[in-house]
Amino acid sequence: MSGSAEARRGQLVQLYREVSDCTRCSLHEGRIQAVFGAGNADAKLMFVGEAPGAEEDRQGLPFVGRAGQLLNKLLDEVGLSRDDVFIANILKSRPPANRDPHPDEIDACWPYLDRQIQLIEPQVIATLGNFATKKITGSQTGITRVRGTPQVHELAGRTVFVFPLLHPAAALRTPSLVETLQQDFARLRELLDEPLPNAPEDLAAASSVSANAPRAPEAPEARATPTPDPDSQLDFFA
Ligand code: URA
Repeated sequence: MSGSAEARRGQLVQLYREVSDCTRCSLHEGRIQAVFGAGNADAKLMFVGEAPGAEEDRQGLPFVGRAGQLLNKLLDEVGLSRDDVFIANILKSRPPANRDPHPDEIDACWPYLDRQIQLIEPQVIATLGNFATKKITGSQTGITRVRGTPQVHELAGRTVFVFPLLHPAAALRTPSLVETLQQDFARLRELLDEPLPNAPEDLAAASSVSANAPRAPEAPEARATPTPDPDSQLDFFA
């Protein structure tokens, strides 16, 4: 799929409205609001996390808690900001008590992420943590084995680099991992300037088992805020 950046952005706003009203799985019953994702609708780099946490559910925006603050810092250190990238999650609704997503929830939500990838047309998809990495790469190989090495995949009908990263929440729990993330973000920055190979078999993926990267601890409950305006979330760069 391809169209003008403006047409794609319009379709993304339509998708935002659809996701806001989504009742495809039971998670809609417990959420304050859906978290569509936010950032540059024409981004070359897209991040994919697991699912909204408590703070994201309150604000309607991805990665706005402590893990999000670390993500902002890591971006800043390589000369990027959230306005340069698009950030989304595998699930658009918060699982209760931040439990792992269930297979039926993932299946119900997957078409939204698929469409986001189609419309944004990123060159690089950076997966944050074990869960998003396994889902996007279609491999059970754990994040500690695959992090920091680009893979090539066909996603949403497009050839993209997939770049697995540790989840920032893992580095909040184990501060020595911040350095690993910094090294991987430096590589990620370089990858943005590299041409995509033609076929997925041009790059091989590593494999094996590994640890989970749970989301950041929850903030205390607070008042719900209104669903953000899509125009303020899809910061478009011509
Ligand atoms: N963790 C995630 O995986 N996604 C968010 O949006 C926030 C924390």
